[in-house]
Amino acid sequence: MPENVNNVVIIGSGCSGLTAAIYAARANLSPIVIDGHEPGGQLSMTTLVENFPGFPDGIQGPELIENMRKQAERFGTTFRTGHVNQVDMSQKKLDIGKQPIVVEMGREQLLTRTLIIASGASARWLDLPSEQALIGHGVSSCATCDGFFFSGKEITVIGGGDSAMEEALFLTRFASKVTVIHRRQQFRASKIMLDRARNHDRIAFMTDTVVEEVHDPAAKEVTGLRLHNIKTGKVFDFPTSAMFLGIGHTPNADFVGDQLKRDAEGYIMPDGYVCTNVPGVFVSGDVADRHYRQAVTAAGTGCMAALEVEKYLEEIGK
Ligand code: NAP
Repeated sequence: MPENVNNVVIIGSGCSGLTAAIYAARANLSPIVIDGHEPGGQLSMTTLVENFPGFPDGIQGPELIENMRKQAERFGTTFRTGHVNQVDMSQKKLDIGKQPIVVEMGREQLLTRTLIIASGASARWLDLPSEQALIGHGVSSCATCDGFFFSGKEITVIGGGDSAMEEALFLTRFASKVTVIHRRQQFRASKIMLDRARNHDRIAFMTDTVVEEVHDPAAKEVTGLRLHNIKTGKVFDFPTSAMFLGIGHTPNADFVGDQLKRDAEGYIMPDGYVCTNVPGVFVSGDVADRHYRQAVTAAGTGCMAALEVEKYLEEIGK
């Protein structure tokens, strides 16, 4: 094994990566955490988190993630900033435990005995400037996180897949009315989910319609949407208190290529909980979870991955 080989490199500094770091650091493994293009992950983009255990009055997402970061640092985690463009696990495959995994960040390389991939999934956005300006102020990609703030209000959900239906149904717990806005006539959602939403008396649908602008960044709150019916050409303003995006997530896993098993949308498919088909490589959080996507589940799998790292290093005698 060459010199300068780390015990564990963790890709991603969201809830999952930081939990893995806390556990690995407390096990004296001196983990290196790589901050990606969204340091802190999705929690850093949300407002009040009320469902993370231990905070009876809730905690702001950025504060929660900052606390986790400090906790990881306190036990000896080192942070590096960079974009991981490739990971080479091949040497590992040839000679398990003897050759390091190579994590490439541009011109810089990190060598490591074990790797935890906690790079998360990024919510898809419409990429409108007015939308981006209002994230956390009425624009959200997480109904579970932010729905509560719109109790008694009329709100909108964008998308035509299962996520959008699920969000719309969930949001009826709070909102007086939910309007699902979808860019086509046909829905991608499963029949059962679509029927459930269609049969709900507080969910309305608007099809063939796209969002052109979110009002009102100057007021720092969502007051309405400028919509465009692409069939009729009509452009009109639609009052609403919030816009929830349900247009899917993209797992941040392109850098692994085909070295790990991935599903059709690119999510890493673990071989049981957090292990992968490559020894020494573990995965945690949303990059391998298209289903639960909660801060607490991401933290849980981060913990599991770090425990697996400890066990693996013991097995290979490090
Ligand atoms: P999805 O099935 O890919 O649907 C995304 C939806 O968003 C599509 O209707 C798409 O429109 C629309 N969309 C994408 N980009 C858009 C844009 N830029 N502007 C406007 N609309 C846009 O994603 P998903 O709903 O997140 O589901 C992903 C997977 O998870 C699916 O396999 C789904 O079954 C599963 N899932 C299951 C459940 C459940 O069973 N409870 C819940 C959530 C997700 P087009 O149709 O025009 O492309």
